[in-house]
Amino acid sequence: MTDAPSYGFDTLQIHAGAKPDPATGARQTPIYQSTAYVFRDAEHAAALFNLQEVGFIYSRLTNPTVAVLQERLATLEGGVGAVCCSSGHAAQIMALFPLMGPGCNVVASTRLYGGTVTQFSQTIKRFGWSAKFVDTDDLDAVKAAIDENTRAVFCESIANPGGYVTDIRSLADITNGAGIPLIVDNTSATPYLCNPIAQGATLVVHSTTKYLTGNGTVTGGCVIDSGKFDWSGNDKFPSLSEPEPAYHGLKFHETFGPLAYTFHGIAIGLRDLGMTMNPQAAHYTLMGIETLSLRMQRHCENARTVAEWLENDDRIDYVTYAGLPSSPYYERAQACYPKGTGGLFTFAVKGGYEACIKLVDSLEIFSHVANLGDTRSLIIHSASTTHRQLTPEQQEAAGASPNVVRVSIGIEDAGDLIRDLDQALAKACG
Ligand SMILES: *Cc1c(COP(=O)(O)O)cnc(C)c1O
Repeated sequence: MTDAPSYGFDTLQIHAGAKPDPATGARQTPIYQSTAYVFRDAEHAAALFNLQEVGFIYSRLTNPTVAVLQERLATLEGGVGAVCCSSGHAAQIMALFPLMGPGCNVVASTRLYGGTVTQFSQTIKRFGWSAKFVDTDDLDAVKAAIDENTRAVFCESIANPGGYVTDIRSLADITNGAGIPLIVDNTSATPYLCNPIAQGATLVVHSTTKYLTGNGTVTGGCVIDSGKFDWSGNDKFPSLSEPEPAYHGLKFHETFGPLAYTFHGIAIGLRDLGMTMNPQAAHYTLMGIETLSLRMQRHCENARTVAEWLENDDRIDYVTYAGLPSSPYYERAQACYPKGTGGLFTFAVKGGYEACIKLVDSLEIFSHVANLGDTRSLIIHSASTTHRQLTPEQQEAAGASPNVVRVSIGIEDAGDLIRDLDQALAKACG
């Protein structure tokens, strides 16, 4: 598709990046299950290795099936390029890697996926990086947290799991003023519900494991670049603005302009960190994305129906879903996420920790799993699982207190989901 941006989302989710296979005419994107690609001749090989020509060398760096997914995600997010990775967490490391160095920090929202809190508060210290967690609703606190060693601000658009939605534009105004990129994890919203780049974000990361693939088959991640950040505007990003010794002094920003970050992600990030997505995973994710808008519409519709039912049930303390008028984020959600606020929410059960455990064990349609964004409905008691590693204060901040369960509402019959919750609540609270 040549003039892709003029097509609507429903068309792009099926066609962007793909065309009939030039060798066979195969209509569906083939799974190019090949490690290496034959060079036309020695000169061609040299040009590829010097980054003077774009092409396929070795599948740790680039693969034709993965490349279709990269182009599709870049198009749907309104970016100039994308790098797919082996998981969402790999994508987060890959997103930070060109920006950070020993002594550098990222200012991160307190409302993040539990695994991200652990990755940022513990594991990245091994690289000499650190994270400062702030409430991103407190814009003064965000400004105050940014210091001379801060290299990015990181948040989620629709945050998992607490029914929170971020005002991306306000954060982008702050990061633009500070000369640093804003990175938005758009996993829970997907590009159907939110386009962080259109609201000023520099980079978008995804766990493609979730809604993008949509049926719980493969793990994957992606980093998408807006192409709009001036990496040479200050001296904070030498990996992109200064000579790169491993490529004979090539300067990525000077040489590749708006594609600098994407090329760095492939030529340095995937080459040396090796967090590569495999072509089978890319295939499953491409399949999933073809129906993304249809699924997200149903996820949102079902989530709202189930959330309303729960809110009116006297066994429930409260429901946190930004799509409910009772949510403190309802107005913001209407303004910033007009197509819906996704399929995830939490609710607090009056019986506390014990009732939550019984509820989870009594459900028949809902599966008790550590995943989200599947066609089928899922439930987890975050405090005893995904958020177990966090302190009570961190659990509370993330909306994962002991009396709270998180649901990922699927695309089944909403009436069936309500009947299942009703019978399980009877057992849990009886
Ligand atoms: C699942 C998830 C991740 C991590 O992705 P993996 O594919 O599991 O590595 C990051 N952020 C959010 C919001 C997620 O839901």
